[in-house]
Amino acid sequence: MKTLGKYSIGMGDRFGHQGSAQLKAIIDAELKGIDITPVWNKSNREHSIIGTVPGDVRIEADNVTRKAGFSKPYFVDADHINLDTVSKFIESSDFFTIDVASYIGKAAGMAEIEEFLTSVAKYTGKISIPGTSLKLSTPKSLVKKVAEKYLFAAIKAWEIYRKIEKIKGNGNFITEVSMDEVAHPQTPVELFFILKMLASENIPLQTIAPKFSGRFNKGVDYAGDVEKFEAEFEADLLVIDYAIHEFGLPGNLKMSIHSGSDKFAIYPVIGSLIRKYDKGIHLKTAGTTWLEEVIGLAESGGEGLAFAKEIYIKSLDKIDELTAPYSDVIDINVSSLPSGTIVAKWNSDEFAESLRHDPANGRYNSNMRQLVHVAYKLAANKKDEFYRLLDANEKIISRCVYENIYNRHICRLFDLD
Ligand SMILES: [Zn+2]
Repeated sequence: MKTLGKYSIGMGDRFGHQGSAQLKAIIDAELKGIDITPVWNKSNREHSIIGTVPGDVRIEADNVTRKAGFSKPYFVDADHINLDTVSKFIESSDFFTIDVASYIGKAAGMAEIEEFLTSVAKYTGKISIPGTSLKLSTPKSLVKKVAEKYLFAAIKAWEIYRKIEKIKGNGNFITEVSMDEVAHPQTPVELFFILKMLASENIPLQTIAPKFSGRFNKGVDYAGDVEKFEAEFEADLLVIDYAIHEFGLPGNLKMSIHSGSDKFAIYPVIGSLIRKYDKGIHLKTAGTTWLEEVIGLAESGGEGLAFAKEIYIKSLDKIDELTAPYSDVIDINVSSLPSGTIVAKWNSDEFAESLRHDPANGRYNSNMRQLVHVAYKLAANKKDEFYRLLDANEKIISRCVYENIYNRHICRLFDLD
């Protein structure tokens, strides 16, 4: 049975050039005593925008791990797949993020809902989680609403899971279910009953990605009430533990944080809670490596800087088209974006410092960062030139990628210096 380690990081590498630099961050964490399983994730959306296929991610992961002599487990994640997109990922992936967001809110049959309500009769009214002070109020009307909202999605998750299992075989892949790309967060009570639904469908769930309160915008810090997040995250941890015990879900089931890159404000909270309860975590990051490629090109000067500027200036023209697929996960204040005329005059430091996620630097601009985060399509349109520049400036770019994952992410989450 393939089992995901306690700590794991999902690393997106949209253009497939930074796997070695990402892996070095994992290896250096191991030297400091933190064992993290690397997972390379790429969604169908990213593949179609860039023009790659799922097998490319497998080749990259196999190559970089072999080159580094990395002998621990690593995975290739078919990120955010559903019934329509899963097929082409099955052969090359061994981690599947089954995205049920589009099925949430569609009603299951009356008989299925009734059957579910009967199966959770003992949890209806209120739940006290043993050994903790956590009490959840679960009136029947609420449980029924949860069933009406989520049961159909759980049944769809089962269908997708079976489709994968039929080809790969039981136990040969990691299963995650994600529900983060929706408008409203799931409460701990909803999470509890969702886990019951997934367990009833016999899905060997190892990670679950709920949507949390607050904004998890791509590539920038958490925006929301950190104390509220802390209470919610702690309740979710206890709920997962209880659900493992009650419903027979895999003992290593853990939370997966999507859009998990750059959430510096909540890393200390997540880190201290998982240590307090001795729990694992999967932190999914994606486009942050692409941003480091742009920063590295800007730092390189010359043609690299010119290319970085061109991407940004074009992204201003195409802002509506580029941001449309990401409207739930970005928040750009257009009036705070520097104009093309200004950016055209910038030197390497001005560009790199505006884009790099260092809030202590006065030049840092989170609006510009979010726009460039979703502008990778523009580099995909000029792939030959982009790849030539990535190769020519590999040293500077790898350092940017490494420092981003290791210093800004791993060290903060795991409290390393
Ligand atoms: Zn997600």
